Amino acid sequence: MTQRIVIENAAIATVDANDTEYASGHVVMAGNLIESLGAGRAPEGLENVVRRIDATGHLVTPGLVNTHHHFYQWITRGLATDHNLFDWLVALYPVWARIDERMTYAAAQGSLAMMARGGVTTAMDHHYVFPRGTGDLSGSIIRAARETGVRFTLARGSMDRGERDGGLPPDFAVETLEGALAATEATVDEHHDASFDAMTQVAVAPCSPFSVSTELLKEGAELARRKGVRLHTHGSETVEEEKFCHELFGMGPTDYFESTGWLGEDVWMAHCVHMNDSDIAAFARTRTGVAHCPSSNARLAAGIARVPDMLAAGVPVGLGVDGTASNESGELHTELRNALLVGRLGPHREAALNARQALRLGTYGGAQVLGRARETGSLEPGKLADLVLWRMDTLAHASIADPVAALVLGAAAPVTASFVGGEQIVENGRLLHVDEDAVARSTRAEARRLADIAGRC
Ligand SMILES: [Zn+2]
Repeated sequence: MTQRIVIENAAIATVDANDTEYASGHVVMAGNLIESLGAGRAPEGLENVVRRIDATGHLVTPGLVNTHHHFYQWITRGLATDHNLFDWLVALYPVWARIDERMTYAAAQGSLAMMARGGVTTAMDHHYVFPRGTGDLSGSIIRAARETGVRFTLARGSMDRGERDGGLPPDFAVETLEGALAATEATVDEHHDASFDAMTQVAVAPCSPFSVSTELLKEGAELARRKGVRLHTHGSETVEEEKFCHELFGMGPTDYFESTGWLGEDVWMAHCVHMNDSDIAAFARTRTGVAHCPSSNARLAAGIARVPDMLAAGVPVGLGVDGTASNESGELHTELRNALLVGRLGPHREAALNARQALRLGTYGGAQVLGRARETGSLEPGKLADLVLWRMDTLAHASIADPVAALVLGAAAPVTASFVGGEQIVENGRLLHVDEDAVARSTRAEARRLADIAGRC
């Protein structure tokens, strides 16, 4: 018989289509699904209730969804701290090119732990550095995600445009076109699960216009559509990228993506900072999604993405941590606040984004761009029981009456419990399935090992 877990006495922000909220309500989880939710106490007479949680003083929201990350960067944090994107990449490519399976696994564990303990229930990793002969990097990342217990999309990245072909990465850090496509297809075949409650999905994800050939973009898009999986890449991040595209391809990034088959409802792109009105209209028309990464954009001085204009045009927008070499905190819940604050520095000022819109970006918007909005991203009967209990009655938040404003504008709220498909993965801010202290030690050791190896090259 299906087991039920009942949460009661919580403020609830469902992030459904009407932004329904309850000042004091209940959620009933049955197996891996949300069975019912609403105001007041749970219905009487529920059978097989194995646990009843009194969530007085808490806000319940959908689990956060991260839509852009590079896990391996966990062991190269705090380097090249005063650079723009291209200078930062040129400084770090030679270090990244020395990663191996052990480093990748430890870095994935660190990235996943940091996000999960902060309320992320669906994560993604855009991994695009595959040095030859270094083991099964994709498999090690997926293993770390399974162990942490989060729902996961691996965006199998690739680079095949080295310096000799006018690209930015050194030639020794890139794969061949054929090698990248074959390895990506093998990863999809081995790991992609298309089912409703999938824990692991795979996307096809050549890295960026300045590190990937036109052929890899075109053939990658064909591969993804043949396999029925999604497409992800970086787009329109900086003025330097825009200049690069005009010089090499005679057009801006969005037109270039359109010419290679890279606009569509099965595509989501990180950043999209430098978009003109016609770029935004093209994204809206094709339902191409955006992973907005406000902290990384600030850290690398990339600019302010036009999120209010994108939302007004109907572009699906989610939030991303981005790699932790350009956002050392590695937390998604602080990105809700940063999205709101950075947005208000732009032309829309105080009307740019409100707290509820920020929460929507980090939950439902993320599920939309990952192609999983039927399953997760809002609290509704029949959807997966991916949800977070945020503690709101401590010093940090207790004096704020509006719990959604407290969550978004206040300090990072403690996570009392986090559930993925009805399975609890966090309790009182600690991971239940992974030893955080052991992960901290192994990430430090692997960061040192990588620095030593890179320093000798
Ligand atoms: Zn990125």
